[in-house]
Amino acid sequence: MSARATLDGVQFAAAARRLEGEFGVADLPRLRDLVHDHAGTVRYRLTGHQQADGKPAIRLEVSGTVHLTCQRCLESMDQPVESTRELVFVEQSGLGEIAEEEAETDYLDAGQAVDIEETVEDEVMLCLPMAPRHEADRCPAQGAVGSDSGKPRPFAVLSQWKKH
Ligand SMILES: [Zn+2]
Repeated sequence: MSARATLDGVQFAAAARRLEGEFGVADLPRLRDLVHDHAGTVRYRLTGHQQADGKPAIRLEVSGTVHLTCQRCLESMDQPVESTRELVFVEQSGLGEIAEEEAETDYLDAGQAVDIEETVEDEVMLCLPMAPRHEADRCPAQGAVGSDSGKPRPFAVLSQWKKH
């Protein structure tokens, strides 16, 4: 395979470039470890711009659907992914001065190339719930165990285990 796609964030921002594409879940190795199966794709859009104070920035938008394993029934569930993040490029010497990170803003070293795949994958992983579950009335385990104990059924665990 060819080298991973990277871009120069400062140049990308200065030229107000745009870039769109998509990755299959199967292409993203860290995400692959978290999902129920490798179906699904994640689309991304990068939009270069300058912030009001002149800092070069890229708006990252990701969207798609991945399959997670419901922690109640261990079956597949659709997890929509939809997120926007602002990547702001600052000189490395200025990184230490940034007192607080805002939730939807990342400050990156202006001197380092942006690895597109890694950046998109990071964003998708940040969107995923820690303990994914079907809606209570949609979970196949719901009727079988009566009240929701929050624990996976032993037989469901076993059948999951046998698949591997
Ligand atoms: Zn479920």
